[in-house]
Amino acid sequence: MKALVYYGARDVRVSEMPDPKIEQPTDVLVKITTTNICGSDLHMYEGRTDMEQGRIFGHENLGEVIEVGKAVVGIKVGDMVCMPFNIGCGHCKNCEAGLTGFCLTMNPGFAGAAYGFAGMGPYNGGQAEYLRVPNGDFNCLKLPEDAQEKENDYVMLSDIFPTGYHATQLAGVKSGDNVVIYGAGPVGLMATLSAQIKGANKTMVVDNHPDRLKLAEELGAIPIDFSKGPAVDQVLEQTNGLGADRGCECVGYQCCDRQGHEHNNVTMNELVKTVKATGSIGVVGVFIAQDPKAEDSLQKTGHMDFDFGNFWMKGQSMATGQANVKAYNRQLCDLISSGKAKPSAIISHELSLEEAPDAYKHFDARDNGWTKVILKPGKQGSQKKHVQEREAVTA
Ligand SMILES: [Zn+2]
Ligand SMILES: [Zn+2]
Repeated sequence: MKALVYYGARDVRVSEMPDPKIEQPTDVLVKITTTNICGSDLHMYEGRTDMEQGRIFGHENLGEVIEVGKAVVGIKVGDMVCMPFNIGCGHCKNCEAGLTGFCLTMNPGFAGAAYGFAGMGPYNGGQAEYLRVPNGDFNCLKLPEDAQEKENDYVMLSDIFPTGYHATQLAGVKSGDNVVIYGAGPVGLMATLSAQIKGANKTMVVDNHPDRLKLAEELGAIPIDFSKGPAVDQVLEQTNGLGADRGCECVGYQCCDRQGHEHNNVTMNELVKTVKATGSIGVVGVFIAQDPKAEDSLQKTGHMDFDFGNFWMKGQSMATGQANVKAYNRQLCDLISSGKAKPSAIISHELSLEEAPDAYKHFDARDNGWTKVILKPGKQGSQKKHVQEREAVTA
């Protein structure tokens, strides 16, 4: 099969790879029809992780079941399924508690497994024609009748929609809350959509890319462009000097200051300032335990210069970590099916698998307009389509 393979820093190519096979009776094989490039793929693409050469990228996957192992009972050949990026076993202490992002058995020695991801187990990704899904009954979300018609919406259930929703859950967003969201990338935009679904009062989204801020605005947010003035001042002005009730971190360790220099503490320290006293902060942006190639000496070891004094003085609370996708994907699926959420509105490019290496270059460079790239491995030739017309995201 054809697959997008990692060869080293900023070197990914579409190569011929062996087809995956049923290895365990609980496995399911999926023919991938849509798979996304994610911001967290870029950490590996840039050579910032210990990703092994020869691995296939891709943890945001949707497709048609073409084969099931003997022990699979709930998923059938022909089903359209979307897979959470986390791979769970379904029977460990964390999976039983719904914390499938921290499964204790699928990647022994570490809590959490994923497809095509550095440090998250040996599983290949789905930026390929086919994908092996372990524990298929547990890890496949069977999609409703309108799966093909709304495929570009449903594929967002693999990661960014639940991850954005998780940011608002960790932050404790309730109806009427004023919410500040750092980052108008795909996850920040999905946190925006989630805050809207939950009935937030003001949702303020901080970024410096006009195209992304425009999307946030279309989703009902107040854009806060930090290139035009300090975000802290702008958020305080929007909230009568009190700060937001809830804050969401949707950028991660590669956040930058106003001069464009990367410091892993920029967004976290700004959240301490822009969230009110006793407010709460949800952190879903990726922070890593080791980043040897970072310039900042603290950052090399995953530490940061965090304003803990003010955080404590303000009595704030914080919750962190990757989304347990299975905790949310069914409900969010229903919102898509009923037309109440349309996460595909943030898609900027729909491309063939062959075009993926070029797409990585543009997405990595944060080129204007490259918000979210989805790949269609089944389709040949150029699918290049800059999605211009964006429909309203919430009905
Ligand atoms: Zn992702
Ligand atoms: Zn488990």
